[in-house]
Amino acid sequence: MDLGIAGRWALVCAASKGLGKGCARALVSEGVNVVITARGAEALEATVAELRVLNTGVQVRSVTGDITTPEGRAAALAAMPQVDILINNAGGPPPGDFRDWDRAAWIAALDANMLTPIELMKATVDAMAERGFGRVVNITSGAVKAPIDILGLSNGARSGLTGFVAGLARQPKLAGRNVTINNLLPGAFDTDRLRKTMQGAAQKTGQTIEALTAARAKSIPAQRVGHADEFGALCAFVCSAHAGYLTGQNILLDGGNFPGTF
Ligand code: NAD
Repeated sequence: MDLGIAGRWALVCAASKGLGKGCARALVSEGVNVVITARGAEALEATVAELRVLNTGVQVRSVTGDITTPEGRAAALAAMPQVDILINNAGGPPPGDFRDWDRAAWIAALDANMLTPIELMKATVDAMAERGFGRVVNITSGAVKAPIDILGLSNGARSGLTGFVAGLARQPKLAGRNVTINNLLPGAFDTDRLRKTMQGAAQKTGQTIEALTAARAKSIPAQRVGHADEFGALCAFVCSAHAGYLTGQNILLDGGNFPGTF
């Protein structure tokens, strides 16, 4: 299927690794020009080189910086001629116990996982509406649908974003102008983030990372964790010309892990 987005410009935040990179790979494969961001230049440049090999016919630009800061966001936006597609992503907050979190910990989580995507939408969606095409995908988490005890900062901050998006996506001046805003909710995916969580659990329990990873996979109906490229493929479809009637939705990709009927 031709997704009908070749030649568009996408800003893919936090995309040197993991799910963001999976989204960038899928969009570049579809002929979309991308600006990708990350804090570390080394991994970012390696991903730029990989994307350029994937499709020599598109422009791939990179911006090094922290997307959760006003300077990081301004630099990313300045590298784009226009934003047709916005993929909001940033690192997830640390695990822990809410008794240990002070105001600064909450503000950091809100900045990264709620206010940064809102600021980037504020900077882009009205111009998308004027041009009659726009796609926003927020990478959130399955924790929005089924909270994870130790990820209270993530449960809270991402739920705030989800509530806000539910209202914004339904504004006729956006939805009625072919601007869609959707959230993709990852379950367990094989990325550095998951590997670090497994490392922490291995240290705590004395079990090996391999044993813990195998047990995690077995607990998922699909009997495995997800791959960033399959996350990217869905993201690209949600950003496609064919998905203009899909907006304000929370789409879970978790190998069937959430046990509800809906
Ligand atoms: P990852 O650690 O593999 O990759 C994160 C990427 O984001 C890296 O490229 C990193 O450089 C970049 N990054 C992080 N913070 C940034 C910042 N402030 N500014 C710019 N770049 C930044 O993580 P991932 O697994 O791809 O996760 C992406 C998001 O999805 C995270 O918010 C994570 O919490 C969430 N998530 C992941 C999973 C999973 O299983 N992997 C599950 C649920 C939710």
